[in-house]
Amino acid sequence: RSKESGRGQYHFYATEMNDRIMAQRKMTEDLRHGLAAGDFYLEYQPRFDTRMRRIRSLEALVRWAHPESGRVSPAEFIPLAEQNGLIVPLGDWILRTACQAATAWDGIGVSVNVSPVQFRDGNLVDKVREALQSSGLPGHLLELEITEGVLLEDAERAIQVLAELKTLGIKLAMDDFGTGYSSLSYLRNFPFDVIKIDRSFIMDLDTRENARAIVQAILGLGKALGLSVTAEGVETNEQLAVLTMDQCTEVQGFLLARPLKLDKVMELLAELADIGVIAGEPAGEAN
Ligand code: C2E
Ligand code: MG
Ligand code: MG
Ligand code: MG
Repeated sequence: RSKESGRGQYHFYATEMNDRIMAQRKMTEDLRHGLAAGDFYLEYQPRFDTRMRRIRSLEALVRWAHPESGRVSPAEFIPLAEQNGLIVPLGDWILRTACQAATAWDGIGVSVNVSPVQFRDGNLVDKVREALQSSGLPGHLLELEITEGVLLEDAERAIQVLAELKTLGIKLAMDDFGTGYSSLSYLRNFPFDVIKIDRSFIMDLDTRENARAIVQAILGLGKALGLSVTAEGVETNEQLAVLTMDQCTEVQGFLLARPLKLDKVMELLAELADIGVIAGEPAGEAN
């Protein structure tokens, strides 16, 4: 009896696995097709400097308008695109598109997420140089957001690529800080300009005393090392108040602005230029 039910179970898992493989295979096909058909687009989420009362930069976030499934989350398709290598052509397109868009932003920079796979691909430095050259965007207006995954595999090589990227005058941000393994030694050994505190710490700020202690420690670290620190995922006024009290001046999150399509970005920037304040603050308080 037990043997039989065992076999039944095996069959169940085999079917499930098969379904998953088929689904992945279909999504890989869809990705390839979507790339050729131009079904991807970028949204841009503002990152605010609350002290200077302005948008410091905007983060490019890729979106996929899937012809059947509608909007698919990058949390779903980026890992797959990393597995099947399509992140390389997709990442090239993201880089070029983001640089091109930022040329119209009047000195406000753009930051672009870069996958560890693009990093390993070898030509990243050339591709970044090319994206800057063909768009005409000055290097200092481009920032690359990198997670620790990039540095885990081959630290020697990573140091070299990061150093070469720095010669282009661009900035480097460590994304999702606090979620990985050896962030501290990375900060010492790699030429980062910015730390982005992971959203999970910001989420807990209202409710957990130790989350605030961690955020304060990261802010202190940033100050000591001369890095700017951005809090990501700010959703409530309470979180913003705590961050402001702790002198975190760079914030990003749904409270201040959601990721926006390019035409909305242009509208927002024009509006802000008119009134001279950042979004969400009464115009009367300017200056
Ligand atoms: P990430 O780089 O850490 O991006 C931040 C994510 O948090 C974005 O999700 C953004 O929409 C979301 N977010 C921003 N503010 C808030 C908030 O206040 N509350 C909440 N709940 N979420 C907020 P998104 O666009 O779904 O992207 C998820 C992840 O997918 C990104 O995390 C990044 O790792 C990856 N990704 C997105 N676009 C790209 C891309 O162009 N290239 C690569 N390689 N990865 C990308
Ligand atoms: Mg990011
Ligand atoms: Mg992040
Ligand atoms: Mg993240």
